[in-house]
Amino acid sequence: MRTVYLNGDYLPETEAKVSIFDRGFLMADGVYEVTSVLDGKLIDFDGHAKRLERSLNELEMRSPISMEELLDVHRELVRINEIDEGMIYLQITRGAPGDRDFAYPPEDTEPTIVLFTQNKPGLANSPAAKKGMKVISIADQRWGRRDIKTVQLLYPSMGKMMAKAAGCDDAWMVEDGAVTEGTSNNAYIVKGNTIITRQLSNDILHGITRAAVLRFAKEAQMKVEERPFTIAEAQEADEAFITSASTFVMPVVEIDGTMLGDGTPGPVAARLREIYLDESRKAAV
Ligand code: PMP
Repeated sequence: MRTVYLNGDYLPETEAKVSIFDRGFLMADGVYEVTSVLDGKLIDFDGHAKRLERSLNELEMRSPISMEELLDVHRELVRINEIDEGMIYLQITRGAPGDRDFAYPPEDTEPTIVLFTQNKPGLANSPAAKKGMKVISIADQRWGRRDIKTVQLLYPSMGKMMAKAAGCDDAWMVEDGAVTEGTSNNAYIVKGNTIITRQLSNDILHGITRAAVLRFAKEAQMKVEERPFTIAEAQEADEAFITSASTFVMPVVEIDGTMLGDGTPGPVAARLREIYLDESRKAAV
């Protein structure tokens, strides 16, 4: 059985209980992070910790833990649960004030913090990376602060189900004619030596993997254009791919039924995946 972390305690997963008045449960009033683990070490921990602080600040939410202590908790869970490859999920909510009210609870309400591990042997060697993903496009019907990593994930979850119903792997969301991002990842297209991905704003999550991959792409002399693109432009691109902490770089080979190139993963996505995995393993903590 997994050991999980709840409000300062390491507990068997069946003994970790959260109040029915918790604002994460009643209001989706919480933020989260997912950090991947390779070779028993944390990938991009600093980036995730910084984004967590930003999400908390944007929502005027207090952190129950310092970022140094948070690193220790991550490492301790990896150790106890013997994770070699997998993920660590972290969630902080505004706590359980003892009743339901739209107004934020008093300042002294203790936030709730939960961490658990997900064991995924073979995460880096995923067969999906060799096959590529099929995506559909759907309207982006999320709220306007997608830069804050809240646990309000119903629409992305619905998008994933729409993709499954269409026999595909994921959905790219479209707003005002342009792709924002995937249900749980950032979206890219490739034309020649140029990588195109939407610029940062409140419209998308500022992916930690995105930042690293764009840095590596520039170091490898690839051109990066940060701008919106349409589904039609994507269908005519040489390649497409997504990035996220748990999928790293994953090629996309079909968009709304249109095959990209010959329908197999392209060289740019493959190269970026390799560079990202190599460099991240080296920098892992
Ligand atoms: N966009 C959305 C909507 C996401 O949910 C995620 C992953 N949680 C990402 C992008 C990718 O972010 P990261 O690279 O930090 O995992």
